[in-house]
Amino acid sequence: MSSKKTNVSTDIDHQRLESLINSMSDGVISTDEKANIVLYNGAALNVLDVNSIQKGDPVDTVLKLTNEHGDPLDVKRIILDAKTQITSRDYKIKYSDGSVVSLYLSISPVHLGYGKKGEKGFVLIIRDITREKSLEEERDEFISVISHELRTPIAIAEGAIGNAEFILEKSGDTEKIKEALASAHQQAIYLEDMINDLSTLSRAERGVLENSVEDINAHQFIESLQEMYIKDAEKKGIQLYIDVDPELELLRSSKLYVQEIMQNFITNAIKYTEEGSVTVHAKKAKDGVEFAVSDTGIGISKGDQARVFDKFFRSEDFRTRSQNGTGLGLHVTRKLAQMAKAQINLSSELGKGSTFTIYFPNLN
Ligand code: ADP
Repeated sequence: MSSKKTNVSTDIDHQRLESLINSMSDGVISTDEKANIVLYNGAALNVLDVNSIQKGDPVDTVLKLTNEHGDPLDVKRIILDAKTQITSRDYKIKYSDGSVVSLYLSISPVHLGYGKKGEKGFVLIIRDITREKSLEEERDEFISVISHELRTPIAIAEGAIGNAEFILEKSGDTEKIKEALASAHQQAIYLEDMINDLSTLSRAERGVLENSVEDINAHQFIESLQEMYIKDAEKKGIQLYIDVDPELELLRSSKLYVQEIMQNFITNAIKYTEEGSVTVHAKKAKDGVEFAVSDTGIGISKGDQARVFDKFFRSEDFRTRSQNGTGLGLHVTRKLAQMAKAQINLSSELGKGSTFTIYFPNLN
């Protein structure tokens, strides 16, 4: 009687344990001491991207690991060599369709439990960490690009200020001092622009930018943009025209996003145009409005057109490099456009000019 009771409770314990392991989101595989599979859970099938696992098979028939460079590894050796628990985040698995995932792998040598009582074995925990890894890589790259981008203007400003001090002590030539201070000032403005862009980008990425939808009177909106930028255009000796469809109705969208996006297009158009004009167009489109900013500027090569929205991308062209810029403006623009469900199109020809077109749908 008492032994029956024990059997029942062992059965229940076993079932509990099994459902516990099966409910885990991490893949679990246990093996015998020769690294042959004894037990696995459902999540292991997902991580390994297989429909079933044959119990008794050597674990390396399903767990085909490579190092970070894609070189195959001796999985059996790695497991059998584990004397204490080891974990790694540097392995990868290549699936049959050629795709590669990054893997978290923990190997724990265990005693007791599988097959004959007292046998040894290993418990493997596996998890797909591709997304975490790519976020880490992106963050590292971001930090390295940012520090590089910050270092240059700071070094120029520091040099210019040092130079001004030197001239002040030696000759006191005010013209030269003014020149040096103007250069330092320009770099400070560049840093300020960059920090503003970074702050908008970070708020857009976290989705915490205010995005209340409102009715925007497109006529007034375009006129206000013209007012805002006409002086900058005049300073460069170029015209800033507007071309607004009289049929235009109200646009329902986030004014903050629409404004920020259009300002980015217009400042770029003025910045990258040496002569001629910039025109801001607005016309009615299906369930929304289509804006466009066209310029008669330096244009963008076909190769660069595919990259202008990338983070920190700036064309190598000397005419671009002679202008201050962070390479963040269009990246931020694309993020904001996604949030406003807007679609951007770019057409451009080197030496002739560029047109950035954006369609904003009415939002609810
Ligand atoms: P930047 O701060 O360099 O202006 P953006 O992200 O706004 O950064 O633009 C990225 C790059 O795209 C610019 O450096 C420039 O090479 C190119 N670009 C953007 N707008 C124009 C334009 N209207 N005409 C020519 N090139 C442009």
